[in-house]
Amino acid sequence: MELLSKPINSLKGIGTAKAKLLTKLGIRQLEDLLYYFPRDYKDKSIISEIKDLLPENSYTIKAVIEDKPQESRTRNGLTITKCKAFDDSGKVTLTWFNNKYIKNLISKGEEYLFHGKVKQLGREKVIEAPEFEKTSDNGSLNLMRIVPYYSLTEGLSQKDIRKAVKGILDLIDNKAVDIFPEDFRRRYSIAETNFCINNIHFPESIYNMSLAIKRFKFEELFMLQSGLIHIKRMNNYIEKGISFTNSNIVHSFIETLPFKLTNAQSKVLQEIFQDMDSEKIMNRLVQGDVGSGKTIVAFLALYKCVLSGYQGIMMAPTEILAEQHYISFNSLMGSTQIKAGLLKGSMTAKEKARVYENLKSGELDVVIGTHAVIQNNVEFNKLGLVITDEQHRFGVRQRAALSGKGNNPDMLVMTATPIPRTLSLILYGDLEVSIIDEMPPGRKKVETYFIDSTKKERLFAFIKKELDSGRQAYVVCPLVEESEKLDLNSAVEYREQLQNEFFQGYKVGLLHGKMKADEKNEIMENFRKNHINILVSTTVIEVGVNIPNSTIMVIENAERFGLAQLHQLRGRVGRGSSQSYCILISDSDNDLAKERLRYMTKTENGFDIAEKDLELRGGGEILGQRQHGLPELKLADIIKDIELLKLSRQAVEYLYDSDKLNEPEYAKMKITLDKRFKRILDEITLN
Ligand code: ADP
Ligand code: MG
Repeated sequence: MELLSKPINSLKGIGTAKAKLLTKLGIRQLEDLLYYFPRDYKDKSIISEIKDLLPENSYTIKAVIEDKPQESRTRNGLTITKCKAFDDSGKVTLTWFNNKYIKNLISKGEEYLFHGKVKQLGREKVIEAPEFEKTSDNGSLNLMRIVPYYSLTEGLSQKDIRKAVKGILDLIDNKAVDIFPEDFRRRYSIAETNFCINNIHFPESIYNMSLAIKRFKFEELFMLQSGLIHIKRMNNYIEKGISFTNSNIVHSFIETLPFKLTNAQSKVLQEIFQDMDSEKIMNRLVQGDVGSGKTIVAFLALYKCVLSGYQGIMMAPTEILAEQHYISFNSLMGSTQIKAGLLKGSMTAKEKARVYENLKSGELDVVIGTHAVIQNNVEFNKLGLVITDEQHRFGVRQRAALSGKGNNPDMLVMTATPIPRTLSLILYGDLEVSIIDEMPPGRKKVETYFIDSTKKERLFAFIKKELDSGRQAYVVCPLVEESEKLDLNSAVEYREQLQNEFFQGYKVGLLHGKMKADEKNEIMENFRKNHINILVSTTVIEVGVNIPNSTIMVIENAERFGLAQLHQLRGRVGRGSSQSYCILISDSDNDLAKERLRYMTKTENGFDIAEKDLELRGGGEILGQRQHGLPELKLADIIKDIELLKLSRQAVEYLYDSDKLNEPEYAKMKITLDKRFKRILDEITLN
């Protein structure tokens, strides 16, 4: 509807001032307001009789004012306005505090609707500060119905928004064209759009409201899925990718590695190589729990790529991880003669320029780096493969920007779960999935304990014993500097305390996000060489860090971390053949927090932990920041609404598989989708 793209101040009753306030809520056009859904509802449709009012409950009553409202002052200086109202069944007292307008708004002998919570004061029943409206106001928006409640901003009232929304609904007058044609709606049991926009704002019944909410959730999830599936189909059917060769050389190289690949690694590698051999563009997600050995699989794919005459990228979310990959690439792949470069934000302009030049000329075969590799000035001679490590830290758009560096390069993304399998299939709808479901041999379970800080001395004694036998320990704290608000152990002070009090004679190092890159590298280097025995750190070491000689992970204020994050942190130990330990310290007396930490001591499986984490947190966060470039979900929750998510996926696939989009009734849907895809593509090229 064209009228929906009109500015919000074109609506009757919305002047410049109100329009400005609405802008604060993200509402600029009529359409924005129409889709500004209530955050809550209250059922005020039932009118109660005064004799039935019970204290501590909320009611709507229809009553006549018995006496003129009287003002008086209370002892603590409040103005109180008071009057009595009656219906056929009884009387009730109404009071308002510090509201000098009330006495002019309410007249003796008139009938009103009142809504509010009842209190028993002595023998009197009182409703304090009731909402009210004259009964002669036909078709009330605010009472005698299921009433919508919206998120507000200062200066705007619920009544303002309700009135404005009603204004738009009147303008639309049930003439909106549904993007879902009738046969489609029937197929997926989705209610019609006019019915739904009316009922989501002003529900005629709870049932109608639920139909409306279901439809808009479905619509959101449908749009989300259509974007992802569109990308996938574009890759699979329209464009041709590169066909790589030379698997045999890679396979003989594998024989020379210091370890034997696990069956799971070999299986996943084969899936990757099949994709790479074919002309199809590879879009593969490799999921494998922390420590399952994803890195070597990525390196071998890079090797195959380079052997075929192409260049490759490996992108990691942090500098520490990029640096580490660079080091292990050179050590594991050193004998292959592949030339790899490192690229990260903290390098000098001159250092970067050298890498740019060598990538463009083809001098370098592989670049390993952070987000720095997707900057505009990074160009390649012949890019063939792009890999992202710890995919859950990157968005769809960044992934797309990475692909944009070459001419349809193959893509591999790697993640250590957090997302349960069923969900990842749907969420990463544009990717094929491979799973490394086996750990390298000889790994022992990381023994996990949950203690409070009274047990610390014993813990430190235990750590000393481990250090004395040559092992190393991490101690993770949530914050860098002592914060007054949160009484947390800051990493800086904590290190000093450990060094000077408990661990004299050992070397305690410090690593945190605010340090300069050079300092960080030096610390990591010293820790890697065991020149530092204990590393006190913030969560900068969360993802990927691999120092097999570390066997102890202590996590302070463990209640502050999510389960998936704790699992990632714990994954920093247990990487060698020695027994490792993870100690969660918390003094929280929150039951839920304790339950979470106890769960960690019982479970090692990353998938289970991810499921539990989602159960505890809900799905909002997954989509939150991580999926840039995708539509925001206002109503739907990808965990709670998993059934609708599945249904909407079926619907999208049905649309693509049938030829429906070319039928006239589907014209509106086609236009909407085309517009969206164009926007997604625009965003990709903007990057
Ligand atoms: P993640 O999957 O968490 O990224 P990494 O790739 O960092 O795990 O591997 C963890 C450790 O396991 C590394 O030290 C790596 O060299 C080692 N590793 C990988 N594959 C094997 C294997 N098949 N056998 C023994 N050790 C392995
Ligand atoms: Mg890794």
